[in-house]
Amino acid sequence: MNCINEQMYGYGSSRSVIRDQYEYGRKRRAEIGDDNLFDFSLGNPSVPTPSALRDCVMSLLDETDSLTLHGYTSAQGDFNTRKAVADNLNARFDAGLGPDDIYMTCGAAAALSITFRALNDSNDEIIIFAPYFPEYKVFISSAGAVPVSVPFVEKDFQIDLDAFRATLSPETHAVVINSPNTPCGVIYKESTLLELCAILREKSAEYGHPIYIVSDEPYREIVYNGEAVPFIMNLYPDTIMCYSYSKCLSVPGERIGYVAVSPRASDASRVYAAVCGAGRALGYVCAPSLFQKIIERLPGVMPDIEVYRRNRDLLYGSLSEIGYECVHPDGAFYLFIKSLEPDAVKFSLRARDFDILLVPAGSFGAPGYARIAYCTDYDRIRRSIPAFKALFESYR
Ligand code: PLP
Repeated sequence: MNCINEQMYGYGSSRSVIRDQYEYGRKRRAEIGDDNLFDFSLGNPSVPTPSALRDCVMSLLDETDSLTLHGYTSAQGDFNTRKAVADNLNARFDAGLGPDDIYMTCGAAAALSITFRALNDSNDEIIIFAPYFPEYKVFISSAGAVPVSVPFVEKDFQIDLDAFRATLSPETHAVVINSPNTPCGVIYKESTLLELCAILREKSAEYGHPIYIVSDEPYREIVYNGEAVPFIMNLYPDTIMCYSYSKCLSVPGERIGYVAVSPRASDASRVYAAVCGAGRALGYVCAPSLFQKIIERLPGVMPDIEVYRRNRDLLYGSLSEIGYECVHPDGAFYLFIKSLEPDAVKFSLRARDFDILLVPAGSFGAPGYARIAYCTDYDRIRRSIPAFKALFESYR
């Protein structure tokens, strides 16, 4: 008798292509030494955690009694932490949020899983835009909803609004926006987002129910052009924001983030209650207490993005000069390049011959492209350029 869930078995027994490259890298590193491997597979931040964070950990350990520091908080997060998060968003974006609109989570992964679970009634459709973070499909499907993807505009990697309009249906409950984007580093223009919101308003009225935007924003703070990333809640009230401190504070292993439900959303208090219910149902209650207290004290600490900017400039400039077709990244820490052959998996395997580890982008909804995570040290990028050149020349 089969006593396991086949869907879960499928997720657990098939390794993501990113993890596959990572595991290959682990073995190869043991053979040739870390310095000789150009591993660009994982989006693990390379900027040291801010010193203010270390100081904060030390003073919390010194000053706070251990049972309080390490004890349970409220299921949705400590009130003072939620208030600090809401106050910070209000000061920066005039968001009108209160503590009871915030739900603290174990990073964006939990925030997204909770949100999809909260919004799905039964087999509802949730739209994602290619290129997308591959785990969206896992989070959406396991919430019982159906992920439906919309292709990108190859010219500038903005959203294909005509294709988007054609994809909407009465079954659509939500649309996921990720800007700055994994895997291509593009920031969606405000004009694109305004048009998208206008379409959503029109379709919500036509279908007689709200269509929510789920705004996945782990890279909000990592932008290079000095322009603010549009704050979607201010463009469209039916917005639920999923945020993570993983990338901006370089703490992906600590698992801390939040869901923020716009107070201006239709049924905002019911949506927030459903978020709390989904957190309860999934067992995602009480995000790590120590890190909640850190966030309460340091809600506005920003990363030093100059390190990533230098890496981006070196990699984008050098690869473009060699002849690679690269998407210009305005944010996040990924460079998206066109594969040198139609099958990007074969291209990534050929890159291994030059000890370069890339991620083929089929699982991101962009076959024919590959992702390079440049959150690594500058010197490694500099030393990788001859290998990229040799890879390019191997196709001549
Ligand atoms: N969303 C996107 C677009 C990501 O790139 C990632 C991680 O790389 C996540 C969500 C998950 O982030 P977290 O570490 O906060 O769970």
